[in-house]
Amino acid sequence: MPYAYDDQNIFAKILRGEIPNKTVMETDHTLAFADIQPQTPHHVLVIPKGAYVTADDFALNASDAEITDFWRSFGKICTKLAVSPDQGAGYRIISNAGEDGVQDVPHFHLHILAGRPLGRMLQAG
Ligand code: 5GP
Repeated sequence: MPYAYDDQNIFAKILRGEIPNKTVMETDHTLAFADIQPQTPHHVLVIPKGAYVTADDFALNASDAEITDFWRSFGKICTKLAVSPDQGAGYRIISNAGEDGVQDVPHFHLHILAGRPLGRMLQAG
């Protein structure tokens, strides 16, 4: 099964309320919270509440309602953080997947990184 979901992953535990989080936004289908080890002044993780492993799993298998809610929430979080180039200095989104993507938590999540210059997109190695 390509997208077998492990319901013991740390974000599943956060969604079940077993582990606390600093919530930035919550909707019926989406939760956004502060990363526990922020890499930038703003480092927010956006996750669907549904059990999806990677961005492509979410894109292929989530309902239209979940996908719409996720991306609308993302936009609203950017506004809330005032990081959109419309309002602020911009941001980067990253979603790591699988081994080469060095994904630590196997529940689809978007990193929103902002609040300082972020340099070039990728480093060698
Ligand atoms: P990945 O490497 O899977 O893309 O990123 C996982 C992210 O989850 C890391 O940035 C890590 O700091 C964050 N993280 C891991 N455990 C927890 C936790 O218990 N709470 C929160 N808020 N973030 C976590």
